[in-house]
Amino acid sequence: MGAVHTGGLPTEPGTCGTCEVPDGEPVAAGPDLEYGTSGDEWLAWRCRRCGTIYLDPRPAPAAFPVIYPDRYHAFEFSEDEFGLVHRARTWLEARRLAPVVDGLPTGARILDVGCGDGFHLAILARHGSPTWRLEGVDVDARAVAAARRRGLEVHHGAIEDLDLPARAYHLVLCIQTIEHVPEPAELLGVIAERLVPGGRVHVVTDNTASPDARWFRRRHWGGYHFPRHLHLYDAGALGTLARRVGLRVRRVRTILSPVNWVYSLRNLLVDAGAGERPARHLSLRAPLALAAGTVWDAAFTAAGRGALLAAELERP
Ligand SMILES: [Zn+2]
Repeated sequence: MGAVHTGGLPTEPGTCGTCEVPDGEPVAAGPDLEYGTSGDEWLAWRCRRCGTIYLDPRPAPAAFPVIYPDRYHAFEFSEDEFGLVHRARTWLEARRLAPVVDGLPTGARILDVGCGDGFHLAILARHGSPTWRLEGVDVDARAVAAARRRGLEVHHGAIEDLDLPARAYHLVLCIQTIEHVPEPAELLGVIAERLVPGGRVHVVTDNTASPDARWFRRRHWGGYHFPRHLHLYDAGALGTLARRVGLRVRRVRTILSPVNWVYSLRNLLVDAGAGERPARHLSLRAPLALAAGTVWDAAFTAAGRGALLAAELERP
């Protein structure tokens, strides 16, 4: 696994966000091969108690402006810049959200935590009931500004710090957010308090039990996204976290995503010194690589081993 140094960025100790005790074994080490935001190597551990994978040490909040540079893809996933990939993803996500919002009442309140530029809220505004009240939350000012430019109602800050009403929301979306936060149990607990009884949380996150995670697990798995993913889960570990904060697990399934396959291959090539050429063909701007990854991951998703986990949790 090699020597691990973290001399460049401010760090803090990390631990399993569910068990909150240091009882892990090292599973992976790697640098930021996607954005190259520092030369540091990061070490990922698997909690022996619940199976959560976590970084220790991890970037301190003071390092976030460095590890989320302006070019970070979540901030501006615009149609201009991503073209065909954007249209394909919009179509796929609209199909995917339909069962998630199924059965919501007239006038339902929906909150997207970590809404980024408002991609999912914009889909609901277009395809959902006009009676729904749609709101987003994001910690990043650039993301909030992009979402507001779309006319969306977005709260700037961490949900833990915002004064949002308790027992108010019928559905909270938490899509590829929980892996980024230092305290996932606190985040999910605050979300649970904001739900009406019977309200649901839809959590999507990378699946550490997927074949891509297994094959590239020592260093190059795209899901590590070093050093931005502080906690990663399989279905069992995510269920343990949900129950810890008093949520009921209605269903956990896996869903299709080509992204980690594409990034795992890209990380492998970049790390081997292959240069920028393969990187250009293996990115979120590369429709052919994403299409190939989609077909490939579809086979595993059909077997219940897709690249992402999608959990439906409920406040009793
Ligand atoms: Zn644990």
